[in-house]
Amino acid sequence: MKSLMVLLLAAGSLHTVAQSLTLTERRITEKVSAELPATIELLKKTVNINSGTFNIDGVRRTGEQYAAALKELGFTIEWIGMPDSLKRAGHLVAWRKGKKGKKLLLIGHLDTVFEPSMPANPFAMLNDSTATGQGINDIKGGDVMIIAALRALNDEGLLKNTSITVYMTGDEENAGEPRMVSRGDFIERSKQHDIALAFEGATGLNTVATARRGASEWFLEVEAEQAHSSGIFGKAGFGSVYEASRIVNGFREALSKQPFLTFNPSFFLGGSTIQYDELAQKGNVSSKTNIIAPKTVVMGDLRFLTEEQKERARDTMRMIVDQHLPGTHATIHFRDGIPSMPPTAGNDSLVRVVSDVSMALGYGPVAAGDPGARGAGDISYIAANLNCLDGLGASGRGAHAPGETINLNEYPKLITRTALVIYRLTR
Ligand SMILES: [Zn+2]
Repeated sequence: MKSLMVLLLAAGSLHTVAQSLTLTERRITEKVSAELPATIELLKKTVNINSGTFNIDGVRRTGEQYAAALKELGFTIEWIGMPDSLKRAGHLVAWRKGKKGKKLLLIGHLDTVFEPSMPANPFAMLNDSTATGQGINDIKGGDVMIIAALRALNDEGLLKNTSITVYMTGDEENAGEPRMVSRGDFIERSKQHDIALAFEGATGLNTVATARRGASEWFLEVEAEQAHSSGIFGKAGFGSVYEASRIVNGFREALSKQPFLTFNPSFFLGGSTIQYDELAQKGNVSSKTNIIAPKTVVMGDLRFLTEEQKERARDTMRMIVDQHLPGTHATIHFRDGIPSMPPTAGNDSLVRVVSDVSMALGYGPVAAGDPGARGAGDISYIAANLNCLDGLGASGRGAHAPGETINLNEYPKLITRTALVIYRLTR
C-alpha cells in the first residue's frame, strides 16, 4: 500500500507540466489521478480471476466485473454469446450513442493465455513501480485503462452525447473457429464506427502501432516417380525430396529480403509412403535409402503487411513451384488466417492526435512503431473498415510468460493520455 501512495504522488505531479492543456483537460487529468486507487483495485481484482481462453466461467466473471463498471458510466451492456461448438465464453460489448464527434470503438479482451492448469500468479507489487499478475499487461491493464479513462470523462460530464463502444472479446488469444462466427459481430459492429483504438500492450510512452502483420499458411505437395536410387539425375528424374528442396530454397532466394514478409517451412516430410494430417500438422513416413522418394509434403506460414504483399508473394511462390525438375510434379495451396492491419494515412492521422496529447502532457512525441515487431491481433479483422491504432494499453514486460509485469510509473500517464485522446476525438 505504501508503494501505491508513492505512485499517487508521482501521478499528482503531472499537472505542473500540462501547460498546453485546456482547463477541462486539466480537470480530466486530475480525475485520473484521484481515481487511481480504485483503478488499481479493479486491476488487482480482475487479474486475480483466472480467465484463460478455455476457462469459460472465468472469462465471463472477468467480463461481469468490467460490465458493472461500464454500466455505472451509463453504457448499455450486451453479452455476445457463442454457439456451444466453439467452446468459447463470448464477448462483452458496452455502448452508448450520441451525435458528438467521432464514433469510437475501444478494443480489449477478457481472456489470457494462462489456463487454470498453469501455475497461479496472483497480483503482487514487485517494487515501487512494478506489479505482476496473469494478463496484467496483456491485456487487463489495457481493459482497466479504458474504464479508468471513461470514468474520468464521465465525472466531468464529458461522455454526454458521445458514441463509444467498448468491445472486449473472450477469445483473442485463441479465436474460436470458424472465425466468421467468432468475429462476425465484431466485424459488423466495426462498420458503425469511425475509429478503432486497441489496448494491447504499449512499448513505453512514445510508440503506438499503426500496422500489424497478418498471418496465413501454405501447403506444398510434391510427387515423383519411385525408382532405384542409382538412377537419380538420369532417366528416373530428381525425386520428390530434391524437388521440394528446390522449391523451398527458391522461396528463400526470391522473397527473403522483402521487408515485413516472412515464411517459415515448419513441417517437411518425404519418403516412399507418407501419411499426414494438414490440420493437426502431424504425420508418419517410411522409406529406404535405395529408393527415390515419390512423395514429399511441406507446410509453413506466411506473414505479411498488406494484402497486396501477400498476393504478390503467393504469385512468386506458384511460379517457383511450376518450374518442375524432370520427373516431378508439385502443387501448392494457401489458407488465409488473420488479415493484416496495413499502415494507412488515416491510421497515421491518429498518431498525430496521440502525439499532440502526449506533448501537451510533457511525455514527448509519439510515433508509429515497427510493424514487424507485432503479431496479428483482433483489430486486424476490422482494419479494412475504419482508421485504427493499437498498442495503446499498459506497458510492461513478458506478455504470455509467467511473471508478466506492468509498469506502474507509466500506467497513470497512459491512462491520462487515453482519456484526453478520447476527449479530443469525441468533440
Ligand atoms: Zn492481447
